[in-house]
Amino acid sequence: MKKIILPDGREFCYELVRKRVKNINFHVKEKDVVHVSASPLISVKYIEECLIRRADFFFDAFEKIREHEKASAPNTQSLKWLGKDLKIRVIENLREKAVIDENECRVFTKDSSEENVLELVNNAVKERFKAVCAELNETVRSGLREKGFEPPNAVITIKNMKSRWGSCSYTRGHISINLRLSAYPKETVLSVFWHEYAHFWYHDHSENFYRFLLEMFPDYHKYNDVLKVK
Ligand SMILES: [Zn+2]
Repeated sequence: MKKIILPDGREFCYELVRKRVKNINFHVKEKDVVHVSASPLISVKYIEECLIRRADFFFDAFEKIREHEKASAPNTQSLKWLGKDLKIRVIENLREKAVIDENECRVFTKDSSEENVLELVNNAVKERFKAVCAELNETVRSGLREKGFEPPNAVITIKNMKSRWGSCSYTRGHISINLRLSAYPKETVLSVFWHEYAHFWYHDHSENFYRFLLEMFPDYHKYNDVLKVK
C-alpha cells in the first residue's frame, strides 16, 4: 500500500495490482484506499498522476462510504415508529423495559449501554408491532367480509426479511410480514396486508390481482408506493 499526499495536504492510500487489463482501473470499496489494477506496461509515475488528477472523485467516494457507515450504525437517539421519529429517552430505573407511546420511546434500565438500550427498544418494537398487525389483520378481514368475500384462515408471522415486505403462502394459509415495516405509517403496513390477502384470490401480480386489490383498498398506491423508493 502506498500513500499519495496532495499539495493541499489531503492524503489517501492506493494498492496497485498488475493485471492484464487494457489500461488502468480504479476501484473504491473502503475508506481512504483506492484499489488500482493496471497493465504492467504503465509506469507507477503515470498511475500516481492519474490518482492525483482524480483525487476529488475519490474523496467523494470515501465520503459516501463514511455516510453509509454512519447511517447503518445502531441508533440509540431516535426510533422510526409507524412513520414518526420518536426520541429515545433513557431513564435510570430497576425495570428493564422500553415503552413506546405517541411521542417518545422511554427506556427504563440501570444499564444504559448502547447494546442493552437497543435490545430493550427492539423487544418493545416487536411486541407493539405484533399488536398493530393483529389490529390491521382484523381491519382487512372485516373489510373483505363487508364486500362479500369470506377471508380464509391465515396465520400471521412477523419477522425480519431481507428482500420482501410481505409474503403469502396461499396453499398453507400463511402470511409473513416484515418487521421493518414498523418504521412506516400504519396505512402503509395496511397496504401490505391487503396485498398479501389479495394473493389468496390471485396468485400472481396480474391485472386482475391489482383490480381486485384496488377495489378492496383504493388508496393502495398512495400508501404502498413509499416502499418502492428504498
Ligand atoms: Zn405479491
